[in-house]
Formats: sequence, C-alpha cells, structure tokens
Amino acid sequence: MFRFTSIKDYHAALVADHTTCTQAVKYYLDQIAAHENLNAYLEVFSKEALEQAAILDAERNQGKRVGKLHGVVIGIKDVLSYKGHKLSAASKILENYTAVYTATAIQKLVDEGAIIIGRQNCDEFAMGSSNENSAYGPVKNAIDSSKVPGGSSGGSAVSVQANLSMISIGSDTGGSVRQPADFCGVVGLKPSYGRISRYGLIAYASSFDQIGIFSKTIDDAALVLEVMAGKDEFDSTVSSKPVPAYSKLIESKLIEGKEIEITASPKRIAYFKETLFHPGLDPEIKTKIESYLKDLTAKGYIVEAIDFSLLSYLVPTYYVLTAAEASSNLSRFDGIKFGHRTKESIADLNELYKKTRTEGFGEEVQRRILLGSFVLSAGYFDAYFTKAQQVRQKLVDLTSTVFSKYDLILSPTVPTTAFGLGENNHSATEMFLADIYTVYANLVGIPAISIPLFTHSNGMPFGLQVMSASFNEVGLLSFSKEQMLNKV
Ligand code: GLN
Repeated sequence: MFRFTSIKDYHAALVADHTTCTQAVKYYLDQIAAHENLNAYLEVFSKEALEQAAILDAERNQGKRVGKLHGVVIGIKDVLSYKGHKLSAASKILENYTAVYTATAIQKLVDEGAIIIGRQNCDEFAMGSSNENSAYGPVKNAIDSSKVPGGSSGGSAVSVQANLSMISIGSDTGGSVRQPADFCGVVGLKPSYGRISRYGLIAYASSFDQIGIFSKTIDDAALVLEVMAGKDEFDSTVSSKPVPAYSKLIESKLIEGKEIEITASPKRIAYFKETLFHPGLDPEIKTKIESYLKDLTAKGYIVEAIDFSLLSYLVPTYYVLTAAEASSNLSRFDGIKFGHRTKESIADLNELYKKTRTEGFGEEVQRRILLGSFVLSAGYFDAYFTKAQQVRQKLVDLTSTVFSKYDLILSPTVPTTAFGLGENNHSATEMFLADIYTVYANLVGIPAISIPLFTHSNGMPFGLQVMSASFNEVGLLSFSKEQMLNKV
C-alpha cells in the first residue's frame, strides 16, 4: 500500500522503483472518495491527474530530468486560478466561472512536476474561521467530524490531515492557513508578505493576502516555498529578493546517528505577555505553552516576556482594514463581468447589481462589504480607516524594535482547540476572536507558522505559532524543524 511520509522519502521510493506517480495518484483518489463526507474538495481532477502521473512516470523511466516536486500530489484552495479549471471562491457568485490563466505560484509548482489533484473547499472569498461560510457546505475535521476544521482554508488543512493530498496550497489574510493547521494537527506556513506572487489569487484584502502551505513536515513546507517564492512581473508587490535554498539551509546534522542539530537555528525568543493572559485562552493551552517556554529556557534559549499593550486592538484593526479592502476588491463581482447574474429581468443597472449581489454573496461576505463601505464612507473614514492605519503603523514600529533584540516571537496559534460545527455561528464577534493571535503577522507582514506540537486532553491537536522578522524564513523554518524533531 502507498504510504506518504515526506517528499524526500517519496522521491527515494520512486528512484528505487518501489512506487510510481500513478500509484500515488490512485491512492489519493481512493482516499478522497473514501472521505467524501469531509467535503474537503469541490472538484477532483481525477482523469487529468492520472494522465499527468503517467507522463511523469514515463519521463522518469526514460531518465529525463525530474523536477523538485516530481509527482508531488497537491490540492489547491479554490481561490487560486488554474487555467481551464473552475474557480468559485466557494461562492455562488462565481458559480460556473472558469479560470482564464494560471496563478504564478501554481504554474511554478506544475513546472517542477507537481500534480494538481483538485480544488479545495474554503470559506466564501476566504472570509471566515470555521469553513462554515462556504456556499457548498461546511468542511469537517477528520479527527472528529462534529468539529470544524478551522478556516478559511479548511478543505486544504483537512486534505493534508486525512491524507487526501501530500501538500495543500491555501491563502492567509489573517490566519487562514495557520488556524486550520492548528485545528487539524498539521504544519501551516504563511510566508512574509511579498515572498510569493499573488498573481492569480482572488483578492480578499490585498495588503494582507499571502499564499501559504500545508504539509506534514517542515522540510516539505521549505521545499514548496522555495519553488513558489520569488519575483514575478505580474505582481508589483512581490519582492525581488533572491530566494534562499530553504530546503538545503534547514538541513540538520546527524549527531550520534540522531538527526537533531540544525545549522543556525535562532536562539533569542520573545513572547508577548498579554497573549498568555488573554481571558479567551483555554487554560490547558496556556499551561502547555508556558511549560514549553520554560523547557526552551532549560535547553539554552533566551526566552523573555515583553509587554504588548496593543493586543486588544489587533482584531478591530484587522477587521476595519480588511473589510475596507474587501469592499473595494469585491466590487468587480457585479453580474456583468463574472459568473452569476440574476435571472430576473431588470432594466435598471443599479437594481441589477443589487439583486445579483444579494443572490450571489453569502451573509458573511455581505457583512464585510457593508462594513468596509461604511468605514470608507466620507463621514467615517477618519474615525475608522485612518485610525486603523495608524494602529497598523504603530504595530510595524513595535515589530522592528522587537526584532532588533530577538529572533523569534512565540505564541499559541489559536486560543481554543477546534470548536463544534454551528457552535460559534450565532456571533460574528466571537468568531472574529478566534483570530486574535494570527492577525498580527498579516498586519505587519512577517512570516508565521503553526507547528503541530500538542494534543489537548479533549483529544484535539493544537499548535505553537512561531513568527520571525520579514524574510527570515530560514530562521523560522530551522527553529520549527528543530522543535518537530525534538517532539518525536
Ligand atoms: N478568519 C479571518 C477572516 O475571516 C482570516 C481569513 C483569512 O486569513 N483569509 O478574515
């Protein structure tokens, strides 16, 4: 039977003729079919994935050069353009829309031999923290199907969790990769803002959005990042900084036969005091994180608490700014240019827009568009939008002070473990609070990762969030790898 542990092991098995890409694809297609109840995929590209696998197998057998992601089976969140394939953002408004070009990040994966197995369910337009806002039904957590997988990239997290793909590609505007990774017990990486091109990613809040990676191991996340990162003529916000060979730079040394020491793993660690005293934080998560920090001190790390009086401003600032950007980004979905248009015959253009958008957008998306239009309106612009921008600037300043003294900031990823389906639906504010620890990294543009280190006594997993200065993904990944190796 096919079994996946890491890309490196998979490639070794391919070279040794112990498996084939076709076998791998068949295995994942069977797995997806057997777990349909989880609702992780909106569409599976079965025929195409098998054809691609056969081509790759033939090429390898002919001794042709194999790509870095040769035969790696990847699922993509349904907010990423893949030419000739449907793209819905899990919304009715884009029903039956077909992508006319491929996102740069996805093209880079394909160019290195990856096999795209399907598009994954998510919250509508990536807005949500539980994957209950999809127009195509909620996704379920594979550990306990009465629980949510987190959001908005819920289908992508569950896909790696339940072995429905080797890797998933999601997007993270305020935690949508890290939070579901935490709820599902997998690795979830959001790189620095501008590390990966956003060309072909449906925009939610453009100054926050970043493509991210779900994987089982840090090595796999590093390799996929290395492939997707880098400059792109189609995205003016992407950085032209050279892309380090992440997968090589985090290679560990063997000590007495045990893979453990990693070159240049950072040692100076800060944590924000207020994050651990937040009333919404589950007491067991607090205790476990606190004792983890103590253990790090015992292992020789410098671990220090620093004040963070701005904690309670994070969620409001995030929601004011992202709603404002969303209201502008989503104005293009008007029933004229894309997807759904009301069937009613309406002569007045404004009425046509109104009816189409009321029919096409779900409740949460409508809430954000209204909120965003409100904070951008002439009478309230200064009171909300400008204020939130000022807080954002303060956070950026604070962040550079922190990283002048420390290499990393640690925190819980989410204040609770996965909650029940329907449990948080009655209040938008309660749902927004699930994002308290993750939105900071997007507000200031730094990279952040959730690593699956813990299991709660309620049986659900939870992670440690690691953040570093912008473009220090090497430090972030080295430290995370060390923690994962120490776990086993
Ligand atoms: N839960 C957050 C929101 O709803 C984050 C979403 C995301 O990162 N795409 O905005």
